[in-house]
Amino acid sequence: MGRRRETRVERIMSQTLFDLPSPTGPLTHVDFTPTRKAGLARLEAFLPQAGYAYARNRNTDRGPSDRSNVSALSPWIRRRVVTEEETLRAVLASHRFAAAEKFIQEVVWRTYWKGWLEHRPSVYARYEAELAGLTDRLGIDADLRERWVRACEGRTGLECFDAWARELQELGYLHNHARMWFASIWIFTLNLPWALGADHFHRHLIDADPASNTLSWRWVAGLHTRGKHYLARAANIKEHTLGRFDPRGLLEEGAEALTEAYPLPAPSPPPPGERLSQRRIALLLHEEDLSPEGWSLQADVVGICAPGGWIEGPADRPAARFSRGALEDALTRSSAGFGVAAEAPDDDDAVVGWALGLGVSEVATAWAPVGPLASRLGALSARLAERGVRLVRLRRAFDDRAWPHATAGFFRLRERIPGLLAALGEDGAQIDLK
Ligand SMILES: Cc1cc2nc3c(=O)[nH]c(=O)nc-3n(C[C@H](O)[C@H](O)[C@H](O)COP(=O)(O)OP(=O)(O)OC[C@H]3O[C@@H](n4cnc5c(N)ncnc54)[C@H](O)[C@@H]3O)c2cc1C
Repeated sequence: MGRRRETRVERIMSQTLFDLPSPTGPLTHVDFTPTRKAGLARLEAFLPQAGYAYARNRNTDRGPSDRSNVSALSPWIRRRVVTEEETLRAVLASHRFAAAEKFIQEVVWRTYWKGWLEHRPSVYARYEAELAGLTDRLGIDADLRERWVRACEGRTGLECFDAWARELQELGYLHNHARMWFASIWIFTLNLPWALGADHFHRHLIDADPASNTLSWRWVAGLHTRGKHYLARAANIKEHTLGRFDPRGLLEEGAEALTEAYPLPAPSPPPPGERLSQRRIALLLHEEDLSPEGWSLQADVVGICAPGGWIEGPADRPAARFSRGALEDALTRSSAGFGVAAEAPDDDDAVVGWALGLGVSEVATAWAPVGPLASRLGALSARLAERGVRLVRLRRAFDDRAWPHATAGFFRLRERIPGLLAALGEDGAQIDLK
């Protein structure tokens, strides 16, 4: 696997030394084993809760040792180790639509964020530029750097915030409500830039997703639905943490929404998914879709690879550990399924060499929505093209059906949910939960 370069933010963080509080012992949590088998087992175990029980109980953050009121499926769904379609099919096989509607809507929120950003890639480019500017500032602004490090390390003195910061660092997972409170406190109580918070989440969350994460931070800040922000309130935290935390009098509960100079760009449809033209192809796997058994390929697969050097973040973090395991699991499964050898080339040169060695003129891969992987695929596509090999980015029918409705607010896509679910039946394939 290729060596990863430390990011500038990580370098600054490692040079900033504070006394860390000694943790009170390891946190216990859901078993995030990065295999499809474990993801399907988690789905099966959660199914009885996915109906009215989820609608009633999902907002309570019971703490890391009890995640029974939410699915905790996000690490698998994020990488499509378990797909949205099979999750929705399984839920509908266990519950009537009315009972499971809330859970179904939450799954579709992910689709919404992905589709929305596909229509406005410049919002992500601006986030990256803003982050680069802030990273420069961290190098020269000692006050900002100290406040940022304290927040990241969970040493602000705000008990709830510090507990979530530790949970994030150790486990890579936070309950949805805790993510909202954390982001809101980061922005409105600690007065830290939202883009640094989004970056901190992105580097630590085990389900880190460019669209869901960046746009959720913007939503909390009041930049997604302009002027409508999310303010964490002490009473709400006390109620929904079952009294574990009570930050009364400590939060900024009257702050105004953030503003930014740029208007939101008008939506512009993403380019269409691409199609294979050859009968003999190779497959390239990456973290946007690790279920190649669900791609409709009408071709002979002669080789499979997954570039190991593409995994983000230090190897000992929960997110990188999950990514590495999930890639290895997908390679093993698909190598056995297609009956071909699996490789893990280090870098783009090695991928080009691998494709040429197999003698293919097309390499199929999953569509990568806006984010670092899309940029990597763009660069690799150009390298392969120089050697006469076409990189074909395949998009799932589910995304093609949903994304055109993710151009404005969530409600527009929500109205389309019955149609999306009806189409799942047309796509066939019942899920096997064994
Ligand atoms: C500031 C902030 C940052 C976030 N960053 C991410 C991220 O990087 N990656 C990520 O997958 N989710 C992100 N979320 C959304 C949400 O918090 C997580 O998806 C959810 O908490 C995962 O836990 P779960 O699997 O138990 O969810 P459940 O409640 O069991 O939901 C089932 C599935 O639906 C999807 N989902 C649920 N809620 C949302 C939501 N609000 N937005 C998008 N998808 C949703 C997830 O795939 C989830 O696994 C973020 C939310 C906030 C407020």
